[in-house]
Amino acid sequence: MSVSRVFTPKYIVPIVGVAAASFAAYQYSTATRSFISNETGKTFTGGDEWIDLKLKTTESLNHNTKHLSFELKNPDDESGLITASMLMTKFVTPKGNNVIRPYTPVSDPKQTGTIDFVIKKYDGGKMSTHIHDLKEGDTLSFKGPIVKWKWEPNQFKSIALIGGGTGITPLYQLLHEITTNPIDKTKVNLIYGNVSPDDILIKDKIDEIASKHKDQVKVHYFVNDAKNDSKWDGEVGYITKDFLSKELEKPNADFKVFICGPPALYNAISGNKLSPSDQGELSGALKELGFEKEHVFKF
Ligand SMILES: Cc1cc2nc3c(=O)[nH]c(=O)nc-3n(C[C@H](O)[C@H](O)[C@H](O)COP(=O)(O)OP(=O)(O)OC[C@H]3O[C@@H](n4cnc5c(N)ncnc54)[C@H](O)[C@@H]3O)c2cc1C
Repeated sequence: MSVSRVFTPKYIVPIVGVAAASFAAYQYSTATRSFISNETGKTFTGGDEWIDLKLKTTESLNHNTKHLSFELKNPDDESGLITASMLMTKFVTPKGNNVIRPYTPVSDPKQTGTIDFVIKKYDGGKMSTHIHDLKEGDTLSFKGPIVKWKWEPNQFKSIALIGGGTGITPLYQLLHEITTNPIDKTKVNLIYGNVSPDDILIKDKIDEIASKHKDQVKVHYFVNDAKNDSKWDGEVGYITKDFLSKELEKPNADFKVFICGPPALYNAISGNKLSPSDQGELSGALKELGFEKEHVFKF
């Protein structure tokens, strides 16, 4: 075969055609990739910058707690959080002081366009008062995420979630993550304490999960005082060692207890953390029931 025959226009056309098609395909695939990457963009990637999010909606859940939904950076963005993680929030006081506090979203990590929080207002609380005073369209600065516990499907055969008040938020992330993943068969026992029935947060969401996953999820509500609710059929009083001894599995490597709540709850059940990065020693009811430090995670 002669060279001249190889490079006749008859051959050049297909080669040029293939090259053009490849170039077009490359351009298309680049465009597609960039389109896809926009579609699955993440507002929070762990960088050090504060990102201002606009408050989209705010709704009172009870006398001191609001559900707030903030717009992510782009309407197609996911938050970028995994279960279980949180974000820091910041605002600057008129005197120029930074107020910085952590909050744990309750929305699905795959939710696009918005991220949701349940936030309780404390009397005299700087950040919670600031957040409760925000109007739709106002902005709040966020940074993160900070991963507290990286959940993997079937990480344990069963877990107990022991929570008090707003401590439900990271526990809810676990409950939601496990029950929305069909391959995750982890059994969940949620024990959630509050002052009164009115104070129980996201009860409708928790009850919906429990009724859809009867074989997988058990829920026990505790309230200090049920006088304002004649139909209350949950537990009354504090979460006790006796109750835990009946409800929890015996300590073993396939069973983990996650706990989050006010200092008094940690004191009674597990002992407090020493710092955000130091779980401290295990004490309280769980220690008395034979649990060791490695069986328990304090959020
Ligand atoms: C990892 C993590 C995740 C959190 N996630 C959430 C969440 O999803 N939703 C939510 O509402 N809160 C959450 N919190 C609590 C939140 O970060 C703030 O501590 C809370 O909103 C109070 O801040 P503040 O500036 O309003 O009050 P501050 O000005 O710090 O305190 C004002 C008063 O309130 C009391 N107080 C403050 N915090 C508490 C508390 N937790 N329990 C009892 N009394 C308190 C103080 O003793 C003080 O008297 C989380 C905390 C942590 C550590």
